[in-house]
Amino acid sequence: MAEVLVLAEHSGGTVKKVTTELLTAARRLGTPSVVWTGPGAEGAREKLAEFGAEKVYVADGTDFADYVVAPKAELLAHLVSAASPAAVLIAGSAEGKEVAGRLAVKTGSGVLTDAVDVVAGEDGTALVSQANFGGAVNVHSKVKSGLAIITVRPNAVTPEVAAGAAEVVAVEFVASDAARVARVTSREAAAKSARPDLQEAQIVVSGGRGTGSADGFAVIEQLADALGAAVGASRAVTDAGWYPHAFQVGQTGKTVSPQLYAAVGISGAIQHRAGMQTSKTIIAINKDPEAPIFEIADFGVVGDLFTVVPQLIDEIGKRKG
Ligand SMILES: Cc1cc2nc3c(=O)[nH]c(=O)nc-3n(C[C@H](O)[C@H](O)[C@H](O)COP(=O)(O)OP(=O)(O)OC[C@H]3O[C@@H](n4cnc5c(N)ncnc54)[C@H](O)[C@@H]3O)c2cc1C
Repeated sequence: MAEVLVLAEHSGGTVKKVTTELLTAARRLGTPSVVWTGPGAEGAREKLAEFGAEKVYVADGTDFADYVVAPKAELLAHLVSAASPAAVLIAGSAEGKEVAGRLAVKTGSGVLTDAVDVVAGEDGTALVSQANFGGAVNVHSKVKSGLAIITVRPNAVTPEVAAGAAEVVAVEFVASDAARVARVTSREAAAKSARPDLQEAQIVVSGGRGTGSADGFAVIEQLADALGAAVGASRAVTDAGWYPHAFQVGQTGKTVSPQLYAAVGISGAIQHRAGMQTSKTIIAINKDPEAPIFEIADFGVVGDLFTVVPQLIDEIGKRKG
């Protein structure tokens, strides 16, 4: 079977969950080989093997930490020409999409972004599902020219274990001068929240304009904490400055696909739905029974969120207790 390259996302050597999702999708197309940039591969081997990685290409240089995305795209282009893989799978993060675009240009290939599913088509090539127009239309696409370069939406594929050898293959790689024109001059660690990462969380609680103010939005955080969830927000909230833009869900914000998405005081505009419609189960709390969010909700509560949410938090507390 042909190799399928998977660009690992990791943080300080810890394999991110999306990497295990990419490995699961890659196994449907061929034999997965992880591409690991920077240090930490040795410590991650066991996890990568658990999800079926047969090889781990390790480029352990400083180029990846000191420069932005260009060296990763160059490394992948180098491995594509050396290994002739059937496809390259990359996480659908902002960085991943940029790497994918650059790799597509370098290799003269087609790129499919934001895949919510990847399977092998009848001819064995990658067939990708994408949820378009806010999830109203599900499109099946495949790359017709060159290599299939695919970015996969985090949380869209359920990771499945399957043993692999995870044989480490050291790669000698030095980024070109062109890839080093923009340099990272300093880094600042983001303030660590006790909550899970918005795009990786299994549960997301999002609040909208119905919360009324920054103070009113606190009830969303309380519900999220009761559920061990990440906090999201509609654009109405982030534009009003009630919550930071980094937490905006939707067309111009983050795309999430958790097991459970609670939309609280959110009307369900198409641009919001674009970022959350593929969530597995959707709960809506809204005082307007005609709110469009109820069209896509699995469970809905018509009521004032300031009455409903505290009761919900109470009930969760009782069940936990
Ligand atoms: C190009 C473009 C890109 C956009 N990108 C995004 C995006 O990425 N993400 C995004 O979210 N939006 C985006 N928008 C904006 C989008 O069109 C909506 O304006 C926005 O989603 C509305 O946010 P909302 O649902 O919080 O507010 P509203 O539409 O005002 O809805 C508030 C809801 O709260 C309910 N409510 C009020 N009070 C209560 C209460 N006490 N209890 C219960 N329910 C209550 C109301 O019934 C209403 O349904 C974009 C728009 C454009 C044009």
